[in-house]
Amino acid sequence: MSRRDFLRKAAWISTAGAAAVLTGCKVRFQSTEQTSGSASSQTFHWRLVSTWAPHFPVMGDGLDQFSKWVDAMSGGRLKIQVYGSGELVPALEVFDAVSQGTAEMGHGASYYWSGKVPAAQFFCAVPFGLNAQQMNAWLYSGGGLQLWEEVYKPHNLVPFPAGNTGVQMGGWFNREIKSVADFQGLKMRMPGLGGRVISKLGATAVLSPGSELYTNLERGVIDATEWIGPYHDYLMGFHKIAKFYYYPGWQEPGPNLELIINGDAFNQLPSDLQEIVRTAAFRLNLWMLSEFEARNDEYLKKIQNEPDVKILPFPDDVMAELRKQSEIVLTELTEKDPQSKKIYSAYSAFRKAISEYSTLSESAFYNKISIG
Ligand code: CA
Repeated sequence: MSRRDFLRKAAWISTAGAAAVLTGCKVRFQSTEQTSGSASSQTFHWRLVSTWAPHFPVMGDGLDQFSKWVDAMSGGRLKIQVYGSGELVPALEVFDAVSQGTAEMGHGASYYWSGKVPAAQFFCAVPFGLNAQQMNAWLYSGGGLQLWEEVYKPHNLVPFPAGNTGVQMGGWFNREIKSVADFQGLKMRMPGLGGRVISKLGATAVLSPGSELYTNLERGVIDATEWIGPYHDYLMGFHKIAKFYYYPGWQEPGPNLELIINGDAFNQLPSDLQEIVRTAAFRLNLWMLSEFEARNDEYLKKIQNEPDVKILPFPDDVMAELRKQSEIVLTELTEKDPQSKKIYSAYSAFRKAISEYSTLSESAFYNKISIG
């Protein structure tokens, strides 16, 4: 997809997002009885709403593929219509839409719902926390997914890990960050816990979906934005409108994306279709991470070749302060919200439990080996 196509879609979705109206009426969990009338012969027609613009590279494309995988695996018994943000509901209403049954499925990032369910953000990203591999290990093999299911159950939602970007970049800035003081008065798009951290440094954290970022940065509504990494950031065109590209993405070392399913709709599926959905979510999770990993370097080189862009590390004292403030934010949140305390305790315990081997395997490997 060219940048022009990409931006055209982003512009379209801003308009569509503003115009989208939730009808408030619940959608039937549509199913069509076939000849035998048994549960296994039913065809289900589901809607999947997302926080991403339609056919967005990687995330939107991934959902289009997810729908095809489920269709093929189910022999056409589970049909999923994918909607980008604003096509059925605005990006930041996906959680409510799926919870209430306006759509059967949703895809996004759980930190978008931190104002509603503070503990949800631990299932996306924690500043200076787990990387993608470790996040998957916690969710699939360390009890994290069961905790996530507990947190979402009162909202009538069943969650699945369904995508990860790997370690992100720190973001695009229209001013150089020479010290902590440069965050003072900065208006920066940063969702979740990272947003709380930069607020501690005097910045204003803005929560907005990806489809609005380019326009907001171009028009000066925000001074800076974090997004993902070189591949997707280049497609977004940020190198055309911001001069400073910082690393590393301390705020999102391995953000997990989510697939959420309305609990009633999921319970109505026969067990084989439930397993198909679960398996396709696994595939989507690995596919998205692989896409980012495979293409980031190619696009980093493109950004390096942009004459007006400087790619810089955050100064050491800035990183130290961000880390210190991250710990304060986590302490404040867990003291105030018992559910966050429970989830973060489990997250921290898992991190501690895997730290020794991570240090002498991955950390040691990357510290000793220089490739290329
Ligand atoms: Ca991000």
